[in-house]
Amino acid sequence: MTGVSASRLRNLPSVDRALNTPLGAATAQRFGQQAAAHAIREALAEARAVCRTGARMPEAGDLAAKALARLEEGARTSLRRVFNLTGTVLHTNLGRALLAKDAVEAVRLAMCEAVALEFDVEKGERGERDDHLRSLVCELTGAEDATIVNNNAAAVLLVLNTLALGREAIVSRGELIEIGGSFRMPDIMARAGAKLVEVGTTNRTHPRDYLAAIGPATGLVLKVHTSNYRIEGFTAEVSARELASIAKERGVPLVHDLGSGTLVDLARYGLRHEPTIREAVADGADLVTFSGDKLLGGPQAGFIIGRQDLLAEISRNPMKRALRVDKLRLAALQATLKLYRNPDRLAERLPTLRFLARAVADIAAQAERLVPALAKALGDAFAVDAVECFSQVGSGALPLDTLPSAGLALRPRSGSGQALDALAAELRALPVPVIGRIDNGALVLDLRCLEDEAGFMPNLANLSSGGVDAMA
Ligand SMILES: *Cc1c(COP(=O)(O)O)cnc(C)c1O
Repeated sequence: MTGVSASRLRNLPSVDRALNTPLGAATAQRFGQQAAAHAIREALAEARAVCRTGARMPEAGDLAAKALARLEEGARTSLRRVFNLTGTVLHTNLGRALLAKDAVEAVRLAMCEAVALEFDVEKGERGERDDHLRSLVCELTGAEDATIVNNNAAAVLLVLNTLALGREAIVSRGELIEIGGSFRMPDIMARAGAKLVEVGTTNRTHPRDYLAAIGPATGLVLKVHTSNYRIEGFTAEVSARELASIAKERGVPLVHDLGSGTLVDLARYGLRHEPTIREAVADGADLVTFSGDKLLGGPQAGFIIGRQDLLAEISRNPMKRALRVDKLRLAALQATLKLYRNPDRLAERLPTLRFLARAVADIAAQAERLVPALAKALGDAFAVDAVECFSQVGSGALPLDTLPSAGLALRPRSGSGQALDALAAELRALPVPVIGRIDNGALVLDLRCLEDEAGFMPNLANLSSGGVDAMA
């Protein structure tokens, strides 16, 4: 170290001096003396390293400001709010379904006050967690009985472990799916203690395949909704109804894992008809499982509905206690399910359906409206156009179906994919990160899920067009 830089270092302000600046004192007031001093020490260490390069010496106030910024950054939730403009309505990585207002209010109450979670207020006795939803679920699905667990993966695990522990579970080879987050049907079966018996082939499975496989060691027959893919061409599958009659005849339970599952006919909203949960029950499955936060539009949860005697058995499985849902999600589920009692107002009240049912003309008009603001925020380096695009449902629901939508295509006027990646990063760095998707040389912002336009605009103001230009 040269004598010059050594003397520069000696002139750096001390931790105490930084703490005693007005900003340092305010920081200590807000985050505590110890945390503030620690953050200033860190800022000082950085300043020492930088000073050696001959950069400007920070003043005490600069150190306090750095420390405050660091502490504020650390205090901010990492579960950041984002604008989901990916075009995928139920985006698993962005938290899937948004809750209805009624559900949010129900959760707020359950968070802040004591609630009769497992308490029968009338009789003054212990009650049951499932009582809050059982009759409502049965009313909406036609099932005899119902229970709720942590998610649908847990529902499948619990069913397999209860009905097929040490026994065989029969599944078509065409339905041995893997869904995101390493949920693989064969692995779940193994962990549940069931022995997987595959029948049929990848593309074709016939009634005789099931009939040949069912025997004294069979615990259950499982039918799985092939959520995220579809086999087309020379195919054959045994319908749920037909499989139910085979299972009944042989005296083994049929479990139908619907995955997403919907309580309403999606054709009503211009989507392809997806067999509803009620239909799956009516088709004769002994148990049906589905998610709470996919098409249903509620919080993360897994439903097991169907035969009362089987559900009684499931309730006796000690594993159920480990997979149960908490009061907050019960509250949200109950409020969400109640909305289904009035299907006419569902698309207005339930965000998931509201997004899916949104008229493309409405989205296109919004795109036209936003072009000037975006063009201004991005500066000359980017072309901004209102475009047609396609949304998808997401979370494995209707995997091949797309919904005509509209959005903004942002394209660098010159440069390459790098400029596009830089722009995507810039949008993610906004106070409320904006997440789009890169498609065919453009960053596309699908506006289907943009309701908070009033909040979107000022957020854009943080996009320094100079900054983006420089990066491009
Ligand atoms: C999504 C899905 C699951 C898992 O549901 P989670 O609620 O995400 O746990 C299980 N089976 C199928 C067929 C699915 O589509």
